[in-house]
Amino acid sequence: MTLSRTLTALGFVSLILMGTTAIAKPAVKPVPLAPEAQAAILRDDALKANVAYEFVSELTTRFGARPAASESERNAAAWAADTLKGMGFEKVSIETFPLYGWKRGPESIEITAPFPQKLVGTALGGSTGSAAGGLEAEAVIYDTYQEFLDSTEDVKGKIVVILQPMAQTSDGSGYGRMSGTVRWMGPVEAQKRGAAGFVLRSLSTDTHRFAHAGASAWQDGKGIPSMAISVPDALAISRIKKMQTQGKAGPLRLKMLTTAEFLPLGTSQNVVGEITGSESPDEAIIIGGHMDSWDLGTGAIDDGAGLAITVAAAKSIIDHGLRPKRTIRVVLWGSEEVSQPPSILGTGGEAFANRRKAELDRYVDAGESDFGADKILSITLSPTEDKAFVTKLGNLLYPLGIFIDGNGTPSGGSDSGPLHEKGVPAFDLNQDGYSYFNIHHTADDVLERIDPAQLNQNVAAWVATIWMMADTKVTFKRPEVKAEK
Ligand SMILES: [Zn+2]
Repeated sequence: MTLSRTLTALGFVSLILMGTTAIAKPAVKPVPLAPEAQAAILRDDALKANVAYEFVSELTTRFGARPAASESERNAAAWAADTLKGMGFEKVSIETFPLYGWKRGPESIEITAPFPQKLVGTALGGSTGSAAGGLEAEAVIYDTYQEFLDSTEDVKGKIVVILQPMAQTSDGSGYGRMSGTVRWMGPVEAQKRGAAGFVLRSLSTDTHRFAHAGASAWQDGKGIPSMAISVPDALAISRIKKMQTQGKAGPLRLKMLTTAEFLPLGTSQNVVGEITGSESPDEAIIIGGHMDSWDLGTGAIDDGAGLAITVAAAKSIIDHGLRPKRTIRVVLWGSEEVSQPPSILGTGGEAFANRRKAELDRYVDAGESDFGADKILSITLSPTEDKAFVTKLGNLLYPLGIFIDGNGTPSGGSDSGPLHEKGVPAFDLNQDGYSYFNIHHTADDVLERIDPAQLNQNVAAWVATIWMMADTKVTFKRPEVKAEK
């Protein structure tokens, strides 16, 4: 402002002050709406916005796949931090932690006998590479993992093949039953029995010819080559097994080539930003998704969508010029997919929770979005004495087709789970996961698999929920703290 304009302005003010009747009115402060009324506005506006889709679109276009501890994951984190700042988030930071990355490299799998042909397969996360020319050996075929565990057959030097299909359910229970057993422990069990290689039918609910990647137990580079094959290839092997019993086919032999390996110690990182609470800033609601993805697709549904949903939900609060009483903290966790011992902080969720041990007793609730981009069906809350809160939230979510699941016990996912284990209540906005495992961890996990309308339903539910949690005094029962591992 120039001097003359300043003097003019001052003169104008003094004229007003000298007048007896022209007293300036105090600025009218808008009366804040009741939390549920404000949440309804936020919910309805979120349905009309396009923020989440734009976020996941730009993320996947700019960086493609984002394997944990990779340059791509690091660059995506830097971009996300800048993007959060630009959106108006406060206290944006990048928190680095150590991690061994894992690289797939060139790979192939084929049948060499009795009917030579190429298959579609991919190494399991954590797999050890094969000998340079590949591993060629007789295969021993099991219809289920339990059949393999119960078997006393000699598998020394052979390739163990498990053909067990995965059940298709909306809540992911089919995956839950398989991922921790056959995929996680299968390679370890096979190696214990002297097997040279391990192959499983992809944890897939589709019959497309894609292989589904995913983590197997940490074996410190001393495991055996382990791969997932596509469902049609597993079904072909199943037919060969039947032909063997009919005397129409000889023993199955496979050749696995993988150049997978762990990389020297590197880093991954969490990106954190918040809307600082106006009255109780240390009472935080934690939300987010994970930045890293498997290397085959571009991590659109797993978990670009989860980042987009939670970032867009919080951003809509900023865009409405609002500040809740409590803090809403958004976390873009690094390294969810690669699993390593907690001693080297193998996940972003563990790194995030460990860093904040001293303040976790003030955290109100934590939830994450990591189950694709399809619509939310229900919400599971930790127990609360505040029944009116539950009723109001139920009324807010009902128009979105979302119901309170009174029977479930929220536990958070793999990123918010470490907070829950340390005493922070959890909530789950449960998405329809019926089609999620058609695409999950495949080369086909791309933007085109996201339906913008369903994505927006997620954002609407998230913003209504977090506004209610952050702008009321609701408290939830704190879980029992589990002993330190
Ligand atoms: Zn995920």
